[in-house]
Amino acid sequence: MRIAIIGAGMAGLSCAVQLREAGHAVSVFDKGRGPGGRMATRRMEHEGETFAFDHGAQYFTAREIAFQARVRAWEAEGIVAAWPAAKEGAWVGTPSMNAPIHAMAEEAGAIFGTRIHALERVGHQWRLAGASDEEMFDAVVVAVPAEQVAPLLASHAPDLAEDARDVTSEPCWTAMVAFEGRVDAPDTLSEAGAIGWAARNSAKPGRDAEQECWVIQANPRWSRAQLEREAENVGEELLAHFARAVGDLPAVLFRTAHRWRYAMCEKNDAGALWDADLRIGVCGDWLSGPRVENAFLSGLELARLIEG
Ligand code: FAD
Repeated sequence: MRIAIIGAGMAGLSCAVQLREAGHAVSVFDKGRGPGGRMATRRMEHEGETFAFDHGAQYFTAREIAFQARVRAWEAEGIVAAWPAAKEGAWVGTPSMNAPIHAMAEEAGAIFGTRIHALERVGHQWRLAGASDEEMFDAVVVAVPAEQVAPLLASHAPDLAEDARDVTSEPCWTAMVAFEGRVDAPDTLSEAGAIGWAARNSAKPGRDAEQECWVIQANPRWSRAQLEREAENVGEELLAHFARAVGDLPAVLFRTAHRWRYAMCEKNDAGALWDADLRIGVCGDWLSGPRVENAFLSGLELARLIEG
């Protein structure tokens, strides 16, 4: 089959790679400028220096055998490494969190900067509004966060759209800060005032250890309460909470903040859903649980369902 996949995050790409191996012609589209999804890495230029921050997922774990095997293969390729500072069994992408996404996107030939607005039924095939008009697909995989599913599927697959509408995700305000000198604190800290988790990004394997880059994530409750505020003010406030937790801070070289509106979904047991008549499937963490591994397994599950 010719299969279109909307969304090049962990779920869409694990599905894409599996379907390609099974012999399908797969086209992957993502609205983002580059690979990452919620495993994104942001690079900032400031006064001639580049600072990198993993501002989505901070690390991931591998509990299921299928994902463990994948992670070991990535380790052998040098694109992930263990990061025990986060916790035992924690892994990170190297040199940045999006490295495994990057590798899979390349393998799948993913096309970035392409937002799909809608699906159009043409005979028994599908055309994607937002991609090339000439391309027709036998099947479509929607691998986007739950809250972004409905606009794509409401008119053709209302049941799948409804399932996605039932899911809610917690937001996460995230501050990214580069300091002039070392912060006197361990590499990670959690549950301090508004802070859910903070990590010395530059202490992860493969990063520039000369820099002092921190990612400071607000907890879900605080993030929700501040959801519509300006990033500038939120960043400043999170930094103040950080100072309260660790004491005096070195001078700030650079600071910015990012709002993840749909960061962490609730747990779900569906795994993935496939409508064999319409040839439309959905995968993503929202069908499994709020973790990188869940997204990977959901993509794999959908590929299995498609294969029958
Ligand atoms: P995504 O990564 O969101 O991928 C969906 C993709 O779809 C995106 O790239 C998006 O650009 C694209 N897209 C959306 N709509 C369209 C459209 N219309 N057209 C084209 N493309 C579209 N997990 C852990 O395991 N450990 C952690 O420590 C952790 N911390 C986290 C912290 C934060 C702040 C966040 C945000 C997430 C965290 N997670 C963590 C969760 C983890 O990142 C996600 O569960 C996982 O990355 C989800 O993958 P996905 O493929 O389902 O979705």
